[in-house]
Amino acid sequence: MSEFYALLGVARDASETDIKKAYRKLAMEFHPDRNPAPEAEARFKEITEAYEVLRDPEKRAVYDRYGKAGLSGAGAGYGFHHVDLSEALNIFMRDFGGMSGFESLFGGGRQRTDARRGQDVRVTVKLALQDVATGVKKTVRFKAPDRCAVCEGTGAKPGTKPTTCSTCGGSGEVRRAARSMFGQFVSVSPCPTCAGEGVVVLEACDVCRGEGRVRAERTVTVEIPAGVSGNNYLTLRGQGAAGPRNGPAGDLLVMLDIKEDERFERQGDDLVFDLPLSFSQVALGAEVTVPTPYGEEMIRIAAGTQPETIVRLRQRGLPVLGQNSKGDLIVRVHVWTPERLNAEQERLFQELAKLEGEPPKRSPGFWSKLKEALGA
Ligand SMILES: [Zn+2]
Ligand SMILES: [Zn+2]
Repeated sequence: MSEFYALLGVARDASETDIKKAYRKLAMEFHPDRNPAPEAEARFKEITEAYEVLRDPEKRAVYDRYGKAGLSGAGAGYGFHHVDLSEALNIFMRDFGGMSGFESLFGGGRQRTDARRGQDVRVTVKLALQDVATGVKKTVRFKAPDRCAVCEGTGAKPGTKPTTCSTCGGSGEVRRAARSMFGQFVSVSPCPTCAGEGVVVLEACDVCRGEGRVRAERTVTVEIPAGVSGNNYLTLRGQGAAGPRNGPAGDLLVMLDIKEDERFERQGDDLVFDLPLSFSQVALGAEVTVPTPYGEEMIRIAAGTQPETIVRLRQRGLPVLGQNSKGDLIVRVHVWTPERLNAEQERLFQELAKLEGEPPKRSPGFWSKLKEALGA
């Protein structure tokens, strides 16, 4: 599963910044506007595909574990597919803008829509560990521009209509032949009069002042899958800010703030629970209940259990994101020593002390227990 890393020429543990840098460098080399070689386009699509997965922590984590299959599998919900040229160009434009001094040959329509795309809106959802265990629906409220209902997003005063731009005749772009160090090409740039929209508003809507959108508070219900971590975020396409004058809406990015659970320590999909037991419980064996995210569970502690023994409850940890399996609940046994004894207890311990014999000079299992505890 190193194909995407190899395509970008980065290490498996490369930071997001490194990935971005590596992609940008390669994209500048293989961008079809710059590189006329017939194989450049295919290469540009490949590296963009790799970049689009590795730049997204959630997709990257899935890819690291399960490869492309994990991203495209039914129900995975990542919608992975091979990008076509226009998508690849859009992705490049989205993250790096136009190449300075360079208008794209494929530009026209794409720039028109991109310039009018609404902004992405970021919201944070607070989650309890319990929500991670089961998955949860959360309602988020946020402020973001919404389409103006009065002018239906056109920006034109009701009763009037936006007029076709006379500079560009409605195409939104002006073309001219240009020369560059890469040779002669046709340059396409957004029309300066209508900013690429193809129409101009002569009489602006009073409510939105010609913007086609107004400030609004919105409520969206977000379905958060089980097994998420703080590194994940969800992208709700088209749920962000409305674009001006019916431009495409931005995305809603839902960040996750997961509260720690004082009962458990999270280690990826596994949970660790520290279980204190008394001398007599570990010496005689006992049945005790431990909490799991799915309710309490009874476990048997064998007679003669040593401190720091690990009891692993399979599939009682957190769900693995996008998979039908769970991590484990790791129960760590600790032996509790009473801090003060009453007279009766002290008498019994004295009795016991006479009978219990000498402890070994050195705990033979200590090092192997330690290694087990450290997960080695
Ligand atoms: Zn309006
Ligand atoms: Zn125009």
